[in-house]
Amino acid sequence: MLRLENLNCGYGSVEAVHDISFDVAAGSVFALLGPNGAGKTSTIMAIMGHIDIHGGRIVLDGADVTRRRAIDRVGLGIALVPEGRQLFSDLTVDENLTVGGYALPLARDAVKRDKVFSIFPRLFERRTQLAGSLSGGEQQMLAIGRALMAEPRLLLVDELSLGLMPKMVDLCLDALMQLKREGLTIVLVEQNTARALDVADHVCVLSSGIQVYQGTAAEAKASGSMFATFLGINEPEPS
Ligand code: ATP
Repeated sequence: MLRLENLNCGYGSVEAVHDISFDVAAGSVFALLGPNGAGKTSTIMAIMGHIDIHGGRIVLDGADVTRRRAIDRVGLGIALVPEGRQLFSDLTVDENLTVGGYALPLARDAVKRDKVFSIFPRLFERRTQLAGSLSGGEQQMLAIGRALMAEPRLLLVDELSLGLMPKMVDLCLDALMQLKREGLTIVLVEQNTARALDVADHVCVLSSGIQVYQGTAAEAKASGSMFATFLGINEPEPS
């Protein structure tokens, strides 16, 4: 569904990601892993159309979207759950969901809202509450819900588990797995490698903007300490 071909991207003259290539199959979960500053968010931002592309191609369903504007990519079925949620804290849950559907016709608004509330019943209970007054987990649910209002086929999720209690991480990941079963394709940036490997089909590890590992999640799990080395995790020496 999504193909990155020798992608180089960054911020003005600063290149954050060098020559990365991968394929994301329709209906799969693809995890982007790596230490801080590795280029994971930059890769997600490039797919969404938010940062400068210096070279290479982004192909969606066989069509080159490298130069398409972010708003056009929303129309093509890509939506983003950004790092740190980036909610409108002075707007209610309902109003944040309205913002998520902004680029699309209003006709399906009620259907989409019902879908979000069926996945996250807690958002329904809090629909008149200001987003800024929600707990961290509820805010993450709202960030996912807001992205779902664009009825994406490809969902980009940046740092889902950051700052959340394990129970909330499970709840949000369970929701993503339900959406995957319904056919959604997901690219997941995640610091929690173990949880990412639990839910992903394929993984790619970035380090200093370079792709250092790619394989199935099962292969990554089986390779154990080798995979840890790619992630920059030093395992204790055997005593
Ligand atoms: P983290 O887990 O810390 O978010 P990351 O793997 O997502 O890290 P990026 O945020 O993509 O990494 O950062 C990749 C590189 O791009 C880093 O060297 C970073 O300093 C640089 N960078 C990120 N945002 C900007 C920006 N707005 N302007 C200039 N350079 C940036």
